[in-house]
Amino acid sequence: MQSTETISLKQMLLATLENREEEMIQIRRYLHAHPELSFQEMETARFIEKFYEGKDVDVQTNIGNGFGIIVTIKGGKPGKTIGLRADFDALPIEEATDVPFKSKNPGVMHACGHDGHTAYMLVLADCLIQLKEDLHGTIKIIHQHAEETPPGGAKSIVESGILDDLDAVFGTHLMPAFPTGVIGYRSGFSMAGRTYFKLVIKGKGGHGSSPHQSNDPIVAGAYFVTAIQTIVSRRLNPFEMGVVTIGSFDGKGSFNVIKDSVELEGDVRYMNEESQKVIAEEIHRIAQGIELEFGVGCELTYIPDYPPLYNDPAVTANVVSILEQANDPHIQEIIEIPVSPASEDFSYYTEKIPGTFYNIGCKPKGVDKPYLNHHPKFDIDEAALLVSAKSVAHVVCEYNHNEGLPVSDASG
Ligand SMILES: [Zn+2]
Ligand SMILES: [Zn+2]
Repeated sequence: MQSTETISLKQMLLATLENREEEMIQIRRYLHAHPELSFQEMETARFIEKFYEGKDVDVQTNIGNGFGIIVTIKGGKPGKTIGLRADFDALPIEEATDVPFKSKNPGVMHACGHDGHTAYMLVLADCLIQLKEDLHGTIKIIHQHAEETPPGGAKSIVESGILDDLDAVFGTHLMPAFPTGVIGYRSGFSMAGRTYFKLVIKGKGGHGSSPHQSNDPIVAGAYFVTAIQTIVSRRLNPFEMGVVTIGSFDGKGSFNVIKDSVELEGDVRYMNEESQKVIAEEIHRIAQGIELEFGVGCELTYIPDYPPLYNDPAVTANVVSILEQANDPHIQEIIEIPVSPASEDFSYYTEKIPGTFYNIGCKPKGVDKPYLNHHPKFDIDEAALLVSAKSVAHVVCEYNHNEGLPVSDASG
């Protein structure tokens, strides 16, 4: 049951967000024009810090392995502690759009919408600060650096312990694949985990005419490439997804010279820890087999980075029900989306804290086939910023109450 008190706080919050939509858009345009790469977001972090200057709130900076910022908003009423995450790094992409607020930093672009995430979160945070006397629980705003580049910022922020008191964590992502007003969710394992690996095969170089006096690492490498194709087809449970890709094989040399060594680099994706384990074991085993079979030396570097993203089923169901019952004209449709082979370091938060990460449709108006995230012509419908902010506002206001906290002082 909702108390009248909650309704009034929520209505106030939603109305304030609507009034401040233009401000979200202006902030997003400023950030879009001034993108910075992962781990180099000094000016962006300064911009965020400045935004909170003079506001009655606790701001902690330089959290984790970069420019992470945690803003703690203590509500005047009891409740849970909730984390809201917005990332703020950009990508090494030369922007190819014609927008008037195009990137001023050559070769760097906000091509994943993190400018929009930060813009709506700043305005939402400010509204929450202004209304905090009536707010239940504590909100920790997680302004996260370096989502795009492993090891990412999330892992180090979690390890700092600053989020140990969170009861739940939420994040959103702008997705031009859906129209504005559509929100996409998925329960359980939703985005792939990822591993980088490098294999250096050391043979013995020599004259191309005399392979018997050398030991050819190209042949060994070619066997390795072929052999690992059997991992997904023969070793992985057929109902699980897995990807093993060799993206680089430095076989280039001279036609009549046998090389001393070759280097291969690959990308592995999986949807759960069990698949990760199977693929990792098999790649190691096949590399050992190549050593035995060809008498070469194999140096395997195997670095899992972002784990698979797990959206807590109970939390996700709760969020879906809140959004479905929101009766908000800006939230038109809630859809279940398929698993994604992409990776996202929000997964580090939900490894420790129950939470969910959902997508906000932002397909530019009048566009049939939008350019998707990480494309040099990536663009969003800025109306999706308000949708993002309102959806999170609904979640923040209802989440505490849905957990059955007593409201003793409800008044009309
Ligand atoms: Zn991205
Ligand atoms: Zn992203």
